[in-house]
Amino acid sequence: MEIYDCIIVGGGPAGLNAAIVLGRCRRKVLVFDTEQYRNRYSHGVHNYLTRDDILPQEFLQLCHKELEKYSVQRIRKKVVNAKKNEEDVFAVKDESGTVYYSKKLLIATGLSDTLPDIEGFREFYGKSVFHCPYCDGWEVRDKKIGVYARDKEGWELALALKCWSDNVSLYTDGKNKIKPFQKEYLDSNQIPIIATPILKLQGENGQLQKIIFKNGEERDCDALFFVNGYTQQCNIAEAFGCEVNKKGVIVTNRLQQTNIQGLYVAGDASKDMHFVVVAGAEGAKAGVTINKELQKEVYEKKLKEITV
Ligand SMILES: Cc1cc2nc3c(=O)[nH]c(=O)nc-3n(C[C@H](O)[C@H](O)[C@H](O)COP(=O)(O)OP(=O)(O)OC[C@H]3O[C@@H](n4cnc5c(N)ncnc54)[C@H](O)[C@@H]3O)c2cc1C
Repeated sequence: MEIYDCIIVGGGPAGLNAAIVLGRCRRKVLVFDTEQYRNRYSHGVHNYLTRDDILPQEFLQLCHKELEKYSVQRIRKKVVNAKKNEEDVFAVKDESGTVYYSKKLLIATGLSDTLPDIEGFREFYGKSVFHCPYCDGWEVRDKKIGVYARDKEGWELALALKCWSDNVSLYTDGKNKIKPFQKEYLDSNQIPIIATPILKLQGENGQLQKIIFKNGEERDCDALFFVNGYTQQCNIAEAFGCEVNKKGVIVTNRLQQTNIQGLYVAGDASKDMHFVVVAGAEGAKAGVTINKELQKEVYEKKLKEITV
């Protein structure tokens, strides 16, 4: 039976950064990836020094190229299940039913944003519809910015966006969960609350221009940020019994270790600061921790042999 030192599920920035650390430690590493990385609709990566504006696909191609010399294996397949036996060996099953074995398992499968079910949302997503002002606020500075929040509170995001534009409106699409004290904040910062139900988003070539309401009215809008939740892309960590916090991410310690021995989670799946550079850093931390664990296990085994 072939046993990998580490199987990594997820080949986004977190998984690939862990892979490079482990590859450079001469570890036998296998990465599974379905290439559904979270920012695949984005027009460019920001907040990553030396890589400003790079397309996400281009960024990952650079990562793959750098990994080539470290003999990290990559398989473009979905992992559907994973278990651990009494000897702490992980058995990982892919979508075609093949089972692979490893001493350690890293889950870096990211999150998936829940888009509101409104015509046009997907078309503009990543180009003029966004969820993170730090990722995309600069590009739409001084424009007419909207915040969409129906089932979640959007008042804090609306206030935060005043950092990028004076012209911010909050759209609640037929619902209004705004409490009186929140309304006071919004009013005093000249942020109108528009509760009219939305019919569709309208624009051209990925550029949003108008929000069209069900009552026939419309409002100009150049960029829309939304709060509508997200889900884990993969439930393997949860199936192992890993702790999940209120925000829906897996709880780890600062070295990315979960409450399950030998199981690590890194990137968006585990923290609520969702940046490429943070995901990469967490992947690197997981890589070092996994390598140290593997080293320790070998030393302890040798020590036992000598003692005997
Ligand atoms: C529109 C948009 C714009 C963004 N802009 C920026 C930005 O400008 N700057 C920035 O720093 N961040 C940005 N982000 C956030 C950034 O995308 C994430 O923080 C980052 O991708 C997290 O990396 P990750 O490796 O944790 O997960 P991901 O990049 O999502 O990668 C996870 C990988 O795991 C794979 N996977 C999932 N399940 C399985 C499975 N069962 N088997 C095999 N593979 C699996 C997926 O296919 C995917 O390739 C943006 C996000 C969005 C949505």
